[in-house]
Amino acid sequence: MNKDWAEKNKQIQVLLGKEGTYREGIERLLELRQELFEQVTCIINGFPREAFYQMPYANAPGYHSKTLAYSIWHIFRIEDIVAHSLIQKEEQLLFAWNYRTKIGTNRITTGNELQGGQIAAFSKELDVRALYEYAKEVMRSTNELLQNMDYPELYRTFEESDKERLIQSECVSREEEAVWLIDYWCSKNVLGLIKMPFCRHWIMHIEAMQRIKNRLCRLARKGVDPIAYCGFSCNHCFLGQWCGSCRTQYNACSFATCFEDKTCPNVACCQAKNIDGCYECEELADCTKGFYTPENDGANAAKAQAMFIRKHGKKAFLKVHDKLHEQYDFAKTQEILGHDMYEGLAILEREYSAK
Ligand code: SF4
Ligand code: SF4
Repeated sequence: MNKDWAEKNKQIQVLLGKEGTYREGIERLLELRQELFEQVTCIINGFPREAFYQMPYANAPGYHSKTLAYSIWHIFRIEDIVAHSLIQKEEQLLFAWNYRTKIGTNRITTGNELQGGQIAAFSKELDVRALYEYAKEVMRSTNELLQNMDYPELYRTFEESDKERLIQSECVSREEEAVWLIDYWCSKNVLGLIKMPFCRHWIMHIEAMQRIKNRLCRLARKGVDPIAYCGFSCNHCFLGQWCGSCRTQYNACSFATCFEDKTCPNVACCQAKNIDGCYECEELADCTKGFYTPENDGANAAKAQAMFIRKHGKKAFLKVHDKLHEQYDFAKTQEILGHDMYEGLAILEREYSAK
């Protein structure tokens, strides 16, 4: 498990266990949930539609054998069922706000019963934007529940009638891979449910989503020119686990994702000019488009790198970066190159000619 999240989870569980600290525990839990949800948001905003139904680890043992869309569905269906049907005895948000139509599925279960190709096929039918809106709403609603919960409520347990209500709802499949969930949830008190479906379950599936998207990025970049249009090296970029290169559909460059169509202006401009990258453009030194906007921190460094590629080629450029990254991380390298584009170019050339 991600060490930072595991440590936060551990601290939260300790705080929730005592009356004097449970309020702080709830606050920390809400912060952790926010942090975890940001991962989901970045994936939704950065990845193409097809990424959500790929199974790059199909058949592997573990949650990463699923898809990105399935993971989101599964986390928030379980939370919706537990928070609304079980704890609050009220209608789930999936039905109350007609999310099934918006998401584009008739399914109401958690998805535990689905296997292999069924998961991919189910994921393909989902409107992931609507699914994301559903997830956001479930999170908001559970956060409200947590904020308004009194300490004694944490020790409320469940009865046969609660089990029966869940069975009747048909939101948990009767197949063996799923049906155990009802006994599992009903054997816990509210505190136990907070610990698992509202916290640890998120961590496990969001970690799995990270593994899936990292692999999708690696696969997307395979065999693709590792030089970005603006002059960066994808091989050395700090976004390597998020971005599958601006030369592929898996472009999750943080700059490109600021634009509604997710296209970096430098990429669009190079494509319109039918050139390989800004390093082939005569306007490079004076260009103020996209990433080269003077106010952009990385503009000088990117230009310095593009200038180097123009003079010495991509092979030499990658070699220089290998050398620089033996000494500095991505941020420091860009800082060193970014004071002035000509100075940055000189630094790259010095490094290139040094033994
Ligand atoms: S952000 Fe740019 S340099 Fe980094 S991996 Fe993506 S396209 Fe490549
Ligand atoms: S005008 Fe600017 S953005 Fe367009 S190709 Fe030239 S250097 Fe790149």
